[in-house]
Amino acid sequence: MKETDMIETDIAVVGGGLAGSTAAAMLGRAGISTVMIDPHEIYPPDFRCEKISGPHIDALKRTGLADLVLPATTFDGDKSDGTSWISRFGRLVDRRPGDQHGIMYDDFVNTMRRAIPDHVPHYATKVTGLTTSADRQHVTLSDGQVVSARLVILASGLNVGIRHWLGIEREVISPCHSITIGFNMKPVGRAAFDFGSLTHYTERLSDKVAYITLFPIGDAMRANLFTYRGADDPWLRDIRHDPVATLRRMMPHLADLTGDFEVEGPLKIRPADLYVSKGHLQPGVVVVGDAFSTSCPAAGTGSYKVFTDVERLCNVHIPAWLRSEGMGAEKIAAFYDDPVKRACDEFSYKEAQNLRSMSIDSGLKWQMHRWARFGMRLASGTFRRRLRGARMVKTVPDRREAPAVPHQDRAA
Ligand SMILES: Cc1cc2nc3c(=O)[nH]c(=O)nc-3n(C[C@H](O)[C@H](O)[C@H](O)COP(=O)(O)OP(=O)(O)OC[C@H]3O[C@@H](n4cnc5c(N)ncnc54)[C@H](O)[C@@H]3O)c2cc1C
Repeated sequence: MKETDMIETDIAVVGGGLAGSTAAAMLGRAGISTVMIDPHEIYPPDFRCEKISGPHIDALKRTGLADLVLPATTFDGDKSDGTSWISRFGRLVDRRPGDQHGIMYDDFVNTMRRAIPDHVPHYATKVTGLTTSADRQHVTLSDGQVVSARLVILASGLNVGIRHWLGIEREVISPCHSITIGFNMKPVGRAAFDFGSLTHYTERLSDKVAYITLFPIGDAMRANLFTYRGADDPWLRDIRHDPVATLRRMMPHLADLTGDFEVEGPLKIRPADLYVSKGHLQPGVVVVGDAFSTSCPAAGTGSYKVFTDVERLCNVHIPAWLRSEGMGAEKIAAFYDDPVKRACDEFSYKEAQNLRSMSIDSGLKWQMHRWARFGMRLASGTFRRRLRGARMVKTVPDRREAPAVPHQDRAA
């Protein structure tokens, strides 16, 4: 291919999932010459992150794109009583103001893609080759075109192939760390549930469950259930075959809060490994999002990590790197050493491990942690209830509010 046939750009973003689309939107808006390469013209339905809240929103705000993305989400504060119910030991311990924004993953990514300015081209094709150097990078597309860029942002998610060409290895630190199950829940005999959203923690350690969370997306109530069972556990067959009976058996107090419920549509079941990259510090290429390391869906830190990676990269590092010649490894190292990114990665890893231990570990240390967590939640719920100057909810029977005495096998 002649030099003149090449597509010249400063930044080639490989992968247009949440990380790649956010990066393309931020760089395009900053006037930095960028192209995005992803085989899907429109991101297809995919069972991934379905809600954001708390620190995710703060991280999203730092990208400058929150005002474009949040209106596409469903806010639990706008539904039913507008509060987010928390239940531990099978009892309602807190009703805090709604703070969860639900959105299906494909809508999330496609909304983010709409924030990409028109002058940033999207090549709807696969990357089939990549060579990197301290000067220019060459990205070969499956239609034969070649993109020549000063920097490649590798945001190709779980794809192993591209990292393999570059000699970037994947170290699995916790295989099948958790399994996420997604489905829609509907109240029986009533138009809506009483809550804006609900998080119901495991009732017994032996169930190997972290929690079930119910949150609205549009007019539907979406449920995500997080478990620590093996991928071959027959329990997965049970829940797929008869989700209502399996949930009622496993979490007998769930229906105290939801009332009778049914499960709509097919269940999505997806195991997640925790892994980190090795050998990623190379000239000309920077790895972000799931391509760099995965998070546990139960800990819900994946999009926080994505937004933190991309925000630091696009707001801080890339503008500095483009001011001088070359794209050597010493420049790239500044991103991996960024204290904000490192703290976020560490937080994500610790949350994944702590939540698992908190949910299934019967050791004394974790029993004490469960009690402490329960006490804190109860105290903040009681304080909030007093502030409201009324009982928690008039419609809630007393037994849902009063904390039960924890059984040895119970989780707070
Ligand atoms: C079941 C599940 C539930 C989750 N729940 C939550 C949650 O509640 N909260 C939370 O914060 N996080 C959650 N996560 C994690 C979160 O979804 C991920 O961290 C996030 O989606 C990663 O985004 P990404 O852009 O790095 O990867 P992806 O979205 O996977 O994007 C990768 C992109 O690369 C493209 N690509 C791959 N190969 C090529 C190629 N050769 N050429 C060009 N393009 C290519 C793909 O087409 C894709 O578009 C969950 C994850 C799972 C699996």
